[in-house]
Amino acid sequence: TKVAGSNTPSNETLIEWDRMHQIHPWHAMDAWRGYDNMLVDTAEGIYMYDSTGKRFIDGPGGMWCTQIGYGRKDMAEAIYDQVMKLPYTSPFTSATEPSAILAKKIADMAPGDLNNVFFTTGGSTAVDTALRTMQYCNNRRGLPEKKMIIAREKGYHGSTYLAHSVTGKERDKSHFDFETRLVHFLPDVNPYRRAEGQSVEEFCDEKVADLEKAIAEIGADKIGAFIAEPILSSGGVIVPAPGYHKRTLEICRANDIFYISDEVVTGFGRLGYWFASEELFDIQPDFITSAKGLTSGYLPLGACIVSDRVMEMMSDSDEPSSFTNGYTYSAHPVSCAAALKNIEIFENEGVLEHVRAVTPHFQKRLRDLMKFKIVGDARGMGLLGCIEGKAEDLEAEKKLGSQIDEACEARGLLVRPLINMAVFSPPLIITIEQIDEMFDILEDALQEVQDNLNAA
Ligand code: PLP
Repeated sequence: TKVAGSNTPSNETLIEWDRMHQIHPWHAMDAWRGYDNMLVDTAEGIYMYDSTGKRFIDGPGGMWCTQIGYGRKDMAEAIYDQVMKLPYTSPFTSATEPSAILAKKIADMAPGDLNNVFFTTGGSTAVDTALRTMQYCNNRRGLPEKKMIIAREKGYHGSTYLAHSVTGKERDKSHFDFETRLVHFLPDVNPYRRAEGQSVEEFCDEKVADLEKAIAEIGADKIGAFIAEPILSSGGVIVPAPGYHKRTLEICRANDIFYISDEVVTGFGRLGYWFASEELFDIQPDFITSAKGLTSGYLPLGACIVSDRVMEMMSDSDEPSSFTNGYTYSAHPVSCAAALKNIEIFENEGVLEHVRAVTPHFQKRLRDLMKFKIVGDARGMGLLGCIEGKAEDLEAEKKLGSQIDEACEARGLLVRPLINMAVFSPPLIITIEQIDEMFDILEDALQEVQDNLNAA
């Protein structure tokens, strides 16, 4: 906490400077300079503390990323050591020990022949790289017409121009421009939204047919890639019907369409495995995109992992060509050192095993929330969860996410509100007792929101 009178500005000043001068992601422009963000001061384990010293369970795990939790001295030391040894060298012309070891480790973790890693600065740039690589590859193959991207409603893939263009969240489109000629969206794959009387299997058939229909209409010779999150996370933790991923991948393969599995959220332990694609959904994609949990949020880093098959297609020509995609901070040595320490902590402390061990309890406590009338659906997988609120009045329903958020925050739990939903993905080191602490607060908060709704 800042001391008034010292050289450090007071908390009130910091909040004011933030309000007056900082533009945040998803800033409410209609309320510019009209609201404050929480001033977060310190953090330890799964807890964050605001500038007044109030403690919160970090329900969203930062932004789905603080896997090993906060305050790890060994991580700080690894970062310090790399800064002192070599803080930077150009990735355009040189290699480093941490980036070479990390590339090898990721190639070993990733399924099948996904043996090639392009390091980026985060998830959006990893997605951008995957999509641009598809374009580059098909140009190299002499297939310049094969560029269309099939994406899905409710999918979230980031905030660069191209990643934004394949994002299918209506609300995120707001007033920004995006590319429409290159992208085709498939309808919502949320089984919760299936027609009355329709079984999950029938719903799955329908969703697979949506892809087949799009290919028939557009033409396989025009489509370069299909991009999908194993679980649509920002779209509301939508877990597609069993078999959906495998069937869609097979259709892509049959039509020479690259399959991009966006594992920015689901990778690095969120579902109990390094990657979810093969272990949980039985698919070997052509690309996997990763970020967030790769460094547990200690430093920015992303990775676009590419199969040998795709690499061979791109390099199978004598015509000279550079892969002109890259960033000054690609493969940043300090970020790579942080990722290596993160992986070491996962391995030494059995983080993946821990996630698999506590998941049944987490998911049971989550499903138990269905006992509240205002909870229409409680869904998730691994340490990823969402409650979808319902109310008879649609306007009241839309407010449920922020009401649940407020009631939780007052009780020391942060969740992520999304319209009528509240989403959570706590640090992976969360214990059974802390899971109980979290869900006890959620129950208490839901009771209050429900009582208020009844009273209204
Ligand atoms: N892909 C998915 C599935 C995501 O959830 C996100 C961010 O939430 C991104 C990509 C973009 O990542 P970043 O914010 O690191 O650019």
